[in-house]
Amino acid sequence: MSASRAAAAARLRPVPAVARRLSHLRTSIDLESEGRKMRELIGELFPICRSITGEGLRQSLKRVGELIPFAMHEVPTGTQAFDWTVPKEWNIRDAYINDANGRRIVDFRDNNLHVVNYSAPVNARMTLGELRPHLHSLPDRPDWIPYRTTYYAETWGFCLAHRQLESLTDGEYEVVIDSSLRDGALTYGECVLPGDLDDEFLISTHICHPSLANDNLSGVAVAASLAQILARNPHRYTYRFLFVPGTIGPIAWLARNQDKVRRIKHGLVLACVGDRGSINYKRSRRGSADIDRAVECVLRSRATPFEVRDFSPNGYDERQYCSAGFDLPVGSFRRTPHGEYQEYHTSADNLDFVSEAHLAGSLGALLETIDLLESDVAFRNLSPNCEPQLGRRGLLPAASESAQMALLWMLNLSDGTNSLLDIAERSRLPFGELRRATEILIEHGLLEECAKRRQ
Ligand code: ZN
Repeated sequence: MSASRAAAAARLRPVPAVARRLSHLRTSIDLESEGRKMRELIGELFPICRSITGEGLRQSLKRVGELIPFAMHEVPTGTQAFDWTVPKEWNIRDAYINDANGRRIVDFRDNNLHVVNYSAPVNARMTLGELRPHLHSLPDRPDWIPYRTTYYAETWGFCLAHRQLESLTDGEYEVVIDSSLRDGALTYGECVLPGDLDDEFLISTHICHPSLANDNLSGVAVAASLAQILARNPHRYTYRFLFVPGTIGPIAWLARNQDKVRRIKHGLVLACVGDRGSINYKRSRRGSADIDRAVECVLRSRATPFEVRDFSPNGYDERQYCSAGFDLPVGSFRRTPHGEYQEYHTSADNLDFVSEAHLAGSLGALLETIDLLESDVAFRNLSPNCEPQLGRRGLLPAASESAQMALLWMLNLSDGTNSLLDIAERSRLPFGELRRATEILIEHGLLEECAKRRQ
């Protein structure tokens, strides 16, 4: 070793904690096996008849709670949550339509989508004319059963394939929905994984749809996998996972946790993350929150197509987190957006519609995003007056042109005010390349980590 190399080696510094953790999350995960596990969980949960309240929801939450540290919360019927009231609890045991010969022609046990979710109980005989207003179908998709709900209007109904509806003949039908709407509770699940900081990263997903796979057992499965991975890896942020019934769930959570809301520094709503479409990210209401920038940075560095859209006040539970009063930095991470695939809210959103590879791809992009924000700190160039002589330190030529550019960008912009994400955006270099440059420069005493810039 030359004298100058020996002197350089003597100056090598220990790599700080944050930098040491870099890349750990992604490299230690076998995404293929995670994909299989997620698909299995979806298969297990698929047959359960969930709703925004009731035993099906509890049963599903219990299953998720077997996988991760979990608390189940019950919010009693009648509880006020801002402009909303927790509804009566809905439970269902059976439902069917019998024809005049006593033959079950529509059977809840075949497919729970056959009953309009939250239907009031009914036990009656009626003509087709009387029954017809309570029947829902999709004329343009005649073989699929639609998914319909009636959460906040007490009525009842059945959903069936249009082809079957067309085949119904006049005559008397026996109509039974063995359901109940009683005072009870709204249930949601919460998993908190404490980190070094009180600052929180919120991951929220809805878990109220019955037998529909992409919307939204895919979100439940990806969130559960993410929580399992984070539970066994060190992290700076405190992660809060919410498994909530849509709309009323986050509203109830926000109403009960107003003291915690300001700790949320980043957040994502996960929905429709298992279909074969490309990843489609909808920005938070703020539009340029760190989470928005981080997801875009990650998607840009991947080889696969993606889309980023601006915020709009429709969609899933980001509507509540991003309401005017809260305006939290919560984006919406999905593949094909709701309503933009023909299987949406129909029986065709089934187990075949979600793929292990796409679940795993969603998980991978989320892990990269988390990894990025976990390591998004600013650095200071310790030799800022003109360029340090990299060749003398054996750093030139670098392994590739982008590796060399990463060294130069890191040195140039590391004045303590630019974080890694800032530098990634400005340089258009992949975040991972910049992190490798960071590690090299720290080892050679040319860079030091600053306190985090943004809090
Ligand atoms: Zn939905």
